[in-house]
Amino acid sequence: MSTAPTGHAPDDRSELQSLAELARNFFVDTVAPHREEFAEQGYPNREVYRQAGELGLLCMSVPEEYGGGGGTFAHEAVLFTEQVKGGDSAMQLGVHTGIVPHYILSYASEQNKKRWLPRLASGEWIGAIAMTEPGTGSDLQNISTKAVKDGDDYLITGAKTFISNGRNCDLLIIAVKTDPAQGAKGVSLVVAEVADDTPGFERGRLLKKIGQKGQDTTELFFDGLRVPRANLLGTAEGQGFIQLMQQLPQERLICGVAAAAAIEAAVDETLTYVKQRTAFGKPLFAMQNTRFELAECATIAEVVRTFVDSAVDKHLRGVLDVKTAAMVKYWTTDQQSHVIDRCVQLHGGYGYMEEYPIARMWADGRISRIYAGANEVMKDLIARSL
Ligand SMILES: Cc1cc2nc3c(=O)[nH]c(=O)nc-3n(C[C@H](O)[C@H](O)[C@H](O)COP(=O)(O)OP(=O)(O)OC[C@H]3O[C@@H](n4cnc5c(N)ncnc54)[C@H](O)[C@@H]3O)c2cc1C
Repeated sequence: MSTAPTGHAPDDRSELQSLAELARNFFVDTVAPHREEFAEQGYPNREVYRQAGELGLLCMSVPEEYGGGGGTFAHEAVLFTEQVKGGDSAMQLGVHTGIVPHYILSYASEQNKKRWLPRLASGEWIGAIAMTEPGTGSDLQNISTKAVKDGDDYLITGAKTFISNGRNCDLLIIAVKTDPAQGAKGVSLVVAEVADDTPGFERGRLLKKIGQKGQDTTELFFDGLRVPRANLLGTAEGQGFIQLMQQLPQERLICGVAAAAAIEAAVDETLTYVKQRTAFGKPLFAMQNTRFELAECATIAEVVRTFVDSAVDKHLRGVLDVKTAAMVKYWTTDQQSHVIDRCVQLHGGYGYMEEYPIARMWADGRISRIYAGANEVMKDLIARSL
């Protein structure tokens, strides 16, 4: 099954194929051997980000003048695909390379782009974005974290939760209210450089999750965190909600790319298993139910792949709209859940054992219907355009 988006010239496709091999080898040889260690400690070692940076796997769609690879989202899509197929769920590359750099590229000052992007591209720094709060997730205009002006700085006070890369991050985009009297129009995005000893900044618990156990997801607390006003994203306060709306289609597409890869990997994994496992004197694959289940799952994999590739193609041409991105996010991640659940069933009891890849895929994948906008919120967005 394809790992590179279709619709590209043969030269592009062979370049993307080479990248796929490089990325797959990185995840299998460098990251996967640490799976248990990362899951046990609840976060990946920073070293793997630096190793990814050395291989040129980070910020591939950021222009070279800012330390990036000068490529496109097609390169990023290959990375996310190979991460899933290589069995890693500890590195939060969607956030680090697929989301954070693009806010900086689109809205930061030239000086800040030059300061931040090369560090993210090299893996010296790890990026995160903090929108969700204990009291609000889907309803982002109701956040209560505040940024109050103090001379040339903002003082940030509030709490965030469920933040990916929360333990490891050095650069954090924070959604704040610069005007608490307003709803969406009072939201701004501010970038903070953070370290464990930054005054006014505290990393909370490493949250224990049912999947993606090697990935650090934490609470974050701000008590007068001082951030230069020059770190505001955009030219004026109050643009945060619009910026989120502009950037979320790419985030949702990343979910679709990962879902397509997960479905393909689950079908491949299950085919291998049912062909070698026997029951009642024959391989499981000889049973009509197993064959029909996998025939249906393989068909879904093809349809998802076609839908995702067409959305990637639209995104590369700059015409991926909010509605299509929401359709991709909701439908492909729903399919991911359903297909992987059926694949677990075909594995029998072994499908419930963490040491089997299908069990990890089941637990790792469940969040995809909830984050980056819950699937119900996606349906609401779609319905608005009907
Ligand atoms: C592993 C993990 C990583 C995450 N990473 C990040 C991160 O890096 N940064 C960040 O800011 N956040 C992150 N999140 C938070 C995530 O984006 C939110 O959990 C998500 O947006 C849902 O918000 P909530 O949990 O507050 O649920 P709520 O908003 O309370 O919603 C609960 C449920 O209500 C339903 N619902 C909500 N709104 C509607 C609606 N309008 N119509 C119909 N039904 C609705 C949905 O079924 C939804 O799942 C992460 C979460 C997890 C678990």
